[in-house]
Amino acid sequence: MSDQPVPAIRFSGVSRHFGEVKAVDDLNLDIYDGEFFTLLGPSGSGKTTSLRMVAGFDQPTSGSIQLFGNEVAGLPPYERDVATVFQDYALFPHMTVGENVGYGLMIRKVSKPERQQQVEAMLNLVRLPDMAGRKPSQLSGGQRQRVALARALITHPRVLLLDEPLGALDLKLRQQMQIELKAIQQQVGITFIYVTHDQEEALTMSDRLAVFNLGRVEQVGTPADIYEHPTTEFVAGFVGTSNLIRGQLAQAIVGSPEPFSVRPEKIHIQQIGDPIDAGHCSATGRIDEVAYLGMLTRYIVALDGGGELTVVEQNLESTSMEVMAARNKPVLLVWSRDHNRVLSEKG
Ligand code: ATP
Repeated sequence: MSDQPVPAIRFSGVSRHFGEVKAVDDLNLDIYDGEFFTLLGPSGSGKTTSLRMVAGFDQPTSGSIQLFGNEVAGLPPYERDVATVFQDYALFPHMTVGENVGYGLMIRKVSKPERQQQVEAMLNLVRLPDMAGRKPSQLSGGQRQRVALARALITHPRVLLLDEPLGALDLKLRQQMQIELKAIQQQVGITFIYVTHDQEEALTMSDRLAVFNLGRVEQVGTPADIYEHPTTEFVAGFVGTSNLIRGQLAQAIVGSPEPFSVRPEKIHIQQIGDPIDAGHCSATGRIDEVAYLGMLTRYIVALDGGGELTVVEQNLESTSMEVMAARNKPVLLVWSRDHNRVLSEKG
């Protein structure tokens, strides 16, 4: 243990209860220096409350939070080496972009020439050079969020907290900003803690993520770990789409009733009677629904043994007419056993 680095943030047995509501319940989590770490979960699962306790806007009911090895209980927000970026930007509307970005330096009494130099460097970092003289109202949503980011980064916090910062942007801009945010994080090299309910966003940007459900962390891991090896039903269902197979159907397919999941893209549709390779699982059924999604087609297959499985195939050669004609067709579903993930009942 001694060669483990001191975490940037350590939650030890942290709970935050509001009356009966356990917003955060016994959270134990280490986030390392320089990580892009995401708190992912549905609305109300405790992500924002966890972030607010790191920022100092809220206090745990019990447990402790350490920043770089130092307990932060009782420290006001401005004495913690963190900055926060919110979804609604929270820019000062009467100030110019340059004044907004330089605000943190002004209250630290940094001289004007020094301030101007740093504001310029920050606006370059967020790819908004020459915008210093504009008012926030003269910017697009994506540009405002970059100003908010520059304003938060200019005081060189050791940790940046981001609460759904891209939530107000349209899909295209959000995807572009995801790539930019990740690049900026790598450039400045500090720890980012990012809150989102969007699983695709979490998988795209994070070094590691924690999946929250009902105030508790269900699983912590890299995006590939979480996607490829979900350990609970909740994680398998919330991160991407998964088929959950249990009970009699599981017994019929793998010889044990233990619940397991398999991703729709791992299952192949074949003809009834096709040979099944060793180490593969199979089930017969009938195609019940077909959804043509352009690049992909999603099939819902009603199984002869009861239940249904979702299968996704790429439309490499097939046209929409061909895939739609597959409705009602009897099929054999085949997938490698290696893609089965046994799940714990938790969650
Ligand atoms: P969202 O994505 O919607 O922001 P979240 O995962 O960030 O959700 P939290 O905002 O942390 O969730 O809320 C967790 C739970 O705590 C919710 O049930 C919420 O209603 C409750 N809660 C949060 N703040 C308070 C408060 N000040 N008073 C009472 N209940 C609260």
